[in-house]
Parts: sequence; C-alpha cells; structure tokens
Amino acid sequence: MAQEDVFKKLVAHCKEYGFVFQSSEIYDGLSAVYDYAQLGVELKNNIKKYWWDSMVKLHENVVGIDSAIFMHPTIWKASGHVDAFNDPLIDNKDSKKRYRADVLIEDLLAKFEAKMDKEVAKAQKKFGETFDEAQFRATNPRVLANKEKMDAIHARFVEALDKNDLVDLKQIIIDNEIACPISGTKNWTDVRQFNLMFSTDMGSTADGSSKIYLRPETAQGIFVNYLNVQKTGRMKIPFGIAQIGKAFRNEIVARQFIFRMREFEQMELQFFVRPGEEMKWFNAWKETRMSWHRALGFGEDKYRFHDHDKLAHYANAATDVEFKFPFGFKEVEGIHSRTDFDLKQHQEYSGKKIQYFDPELNKSYVPYVVETSIGVDRMFLQIMSEAYQEEKIEKEDGKVDERVVLKLPPALAPVKLCVMPLVKKDGLPDKAREIIDDLKFDFNCQYDEKDSIGKRYRRQDAIGTPFCVTLDHQSLEDNTVTLRYRDTMAQERVEISKLYEIIKSEVSMKELFKKLK
Ligand code: ATP
Repeated sequence: MAQEDVFKKLVAHCKEYGFVFQSSEIYDGLSAVYDYAQLGVELKNNIKKYWWDSMVKLHENVVGIDSAIFMHPTIWKASGHVDAFNDPLIDNKDSKKRYRADVLIEDLLAKFEAKMDKEVAKAQKKFGETFDEAQFRATNPRVLANKEKMDAIHARFVEALDKNDLVDLKQIIIDNEIACPISGTKNWTDVRQFNLMFSTDMGSTADGSSKIYLRPETAQGIFVNYLNVQKTGRMKIPFGIAQIGKAFRNEIVARQFIFRMREFEQMELQFFVRPGEEMKWFNAWKETRMSWHRALGFGEDKYRFHDHDKLAHYANAATDVEFKFPFGFKEVEGIHSRTDFDLKQHQEYSGKKIQYFDPELNKSYVPYVVETSIGVDRMFLQIMSEAYQEEKIEKEDGKVDERVVLKLPPALAPVKLCVMPLVKKDGLPDKAREIIDDLKFDFNCQYDEKDSIGKRYRRQDAIGTPFCVTLDHQSLEDNTVTLRYRDTMAQERVEISKLYEIIKSEVSMKELFKKLK
C-alpha cells in the first residue's frame, strides 16, 4: 500500500477509535486545531510521562517547572520573537493557496535526493551483494549530475536565507520552475515575511489594556525563571530546567494532520552550562535524546540528524532529530545550542542581573544554554504511524483473516488490559470485575462482554491494548484465565494471582528507561 494511503487510513483510524478529533467538528472544524479524545489523551499523557521522568526523575541536576502561557510582552521583544519570528510566505495567484517559500525549496531539494536514492536502489538490485554504495554515489554520472544541481540550489538557498533576501528566494522558485501543487502553475506573488505569534489584549480598554502574546515556545518561561529556580533549588551549573506546555503559532501552511498545528504542546529542556562547554553538552544531549527515541524500538533506520542550514538568531549550533513518517523524513525534535543570547537579552531588557557565581572558577558569568525541544503531537503522530499495521492472519481452516493492530510500545498504550468473561452469565462477569477491581490501581483496564471473543480481541488490537484476559467456567473452579498477547496473538493459561507480575513486567516504563544512555 502506498505510504500516503497508509497515512489517510491512520487519520481515519484516529477518529474512529477515539484518539484525535478535529476541533469544533460540529461547526465544520477549526483549521489546524485538534482535540485529543478519550484514548488519545491517555497515549499523550504516557508520552509526556516518558519524557518527563527521563529528564527530571533520571537526572539529579534537572528540575521541572510549569510557567504561565501569558507573560510580560517585553519578554517577546527581548527574545527577538516580535521582530524575527517570521516565515517567508508566497501565494500562488491562480489557486490562491499560500505556501512557505523555504518549504517549497526544501521539497524540491528532497526530490533530488529521492532521485539519487532511486538510482542507488536500482543499482543495488542489479549488483546485489557486491554493490558498493559509496563508490556508486561518487562515480555514477546520473547521481553526480543530480548532486551537482542539488548542491548549487542548496548553496543559493542558504545564502538567501542568511541574507534574508526575499527577492532571491522567489527567484530560486522561478528559476527551478517550482509549480503550485494545486493549480500546477508558476504564477507566484512576491515573498513576504509573516510573524507567527498570536496576540490578544489583557485588561479592559478603560484600564488601558496591553497587547500580550500567546507564547510560541515554552522556552522563554524557563529563561525568565532561571534566577528563581537556581536560587531556590540551590542548583549548581551544569543543571537543567524542564517544562511541558502549550505553544501557539499562526502557521501559514498547516497540514498533515497533527504534524503542524496552530495550538500544540512542547516538551523542552533548557540546560545551563559554563561558557565554552556548550558544544560538549550539545553533543551529549544529542546522544541522550537519540537514545530516548530509539528505546521505543521502531528501528535505527527510522531516525537521522539533520543539521540546520540556517541558524536561528540565538544559536551557534542546531540539529533536528528527524523521523521517517509515511510522508518522508521530518523533524520531531530540535536540539539547539542557544549560547547566552536569551539570558543576556533578559538581563538587558529587565535591568536585573542574571548571572551565576561559579565557585570552582571563582567568577560570575551568564550561563550558556543547550536546549532540547520536542513536540508532543509530532511524537504522538510518530508513534501512531509506526504502530498502525494491517495484518493478514491465516486461520486453522485455511481461510485468511485480516486485523488492524496498533503495535504501540506497551508502556505507552492507553489501555493495558481488557478483561472479558466468555459469557454474560454464571458469575463470570462478577469474577471479571473482581480482577479489574484488583488491577485498576496499577493499570488502565477495560471490561468487555459484548459480541464474540474474536470481535472483542479485534477491538482491543485496534486500540493497541497489549493484553486480553478471558475468563471461562474453568476460571471459577481453579482461578486461572487465558492471557492473550496482542502482537503474537499467543495465548496461555495463567493463574489470576500471577497477572499483576506478568503485565507489570511488560508495561512498566522502567524497561524503556533501562535502555537510555
Ligand atoms: P518546523 O521547521 O517544522 O516549523 P521548528 O523548527 O519551527 O519546526 P522548533 O521551534 O524547533 O520547531 O520547535 C520544537 C518542536 O516543536 C519541533 O521539533 C516540533 O516537534 C514542535 N513543533 C513546532 N511547531 C509545531 C507545530 N506547528 N505543530 C506541532 N508541533 C510543532
């Protein structure tokens, strides 16, 4: 099945089974805003817990905060967001559709890369075991021609971004004949800058209201609390402050479901270090964060780092963790060395000294900052797109059955077990309820007595429940049940008293944490 079809099915599945709904659906929806439904919120909470505990619980020198969304408006002046949090936008005059100019060019570059990969794959098939990819890439004329074209466009693109040259950004689009995917024409407007921050008014106009912003990142809430946390927590550098919270961006092109939303959630760590040690920590956090992703077991080839072409105004190094979504490799997390830019700016704009006295060096300085910033929603999409699978199952009678199964990492699954009495009578429902009453303090449980056992299993497969527990008449006699495993569909007879240990060993986050570097 084409990857795009898989993605469409996944979006439909998220709605059908109560993971994600379009916001305000009964009013025809609000563009690029989504609500998490009854199962989605459980998965989302588990993702947040996996991140929070891996940061705050597992690092002695990391603490968390929860700062307000509304902040003093000068903060956004100091941080540079009022003047520079812009995207270059361009409109197609025929389709009236709006695009990010940089994204149109990046998509073009990705096409060159795809062409080269195709050549490599073809040659690999032809030469088999003896194929030397590096040599092929260095010598094949078609690959080299594409690479030369791609590098030239890339160099020009980076220069235009660096110089903020909007005229040349447009010219790159014209020169490379990039067409609007909707109208197919190359009839473009000029490129303009567009600020992504939402604003609103605080206070009544009679009092003299002030314009405030909905934060476009959670980071600034950490920077302006740096002094408070450092002092009250008696934190010693290096140390970090973690935060999870909503952020808002008036994205020009909001598409691909929850990949790009106007209201989303971030999990950010700002790690404060000695000046001059930031690259050491930047590299250390790159490794730590990659191991956090890989611990989920989706496969090494699903991730890569992508270094930024253009550094943000505050950074001296930046890379993205990219994940292979059904629509290609895309950013899920940014890791940035933010220098002392933010703290220095807040020092200047607030007039308060923001420094750290380092007893070992016997001097004061403004700390440098390494940031790791990941979107909860993109992580959610990553997990769902990896977990969603359609399987064919050969039955004993030779017929082929199909099932849709969410192979969610058990520690993140919204429901951990479903308890099912084989029949709705003879005391089986009561016995099933007893099991739930015992296990509900530790695990999210469901109870299901409706339809055939097969149908009930399929329902749980579709929401990613790792365990199903079935009771039959024998259960009343010897206190054993059938335990069914989601992924293998294997079944075993176990004692009810053993359920807790078996389930815990599979669904505990500890197993994920043990894999972390
Ligand atoms: P992009 O280039 O995709 O716009 P970004 O580089 O602007 O992303 P950052 O400012 O580094 O993103 O934000 C950190 C993380 O927050 C991203 O890696 C992403 O996971 C998440 N994020 C950013 N913008 C959005 C959005 N509009 N919707 C959902 N998640 C987002």
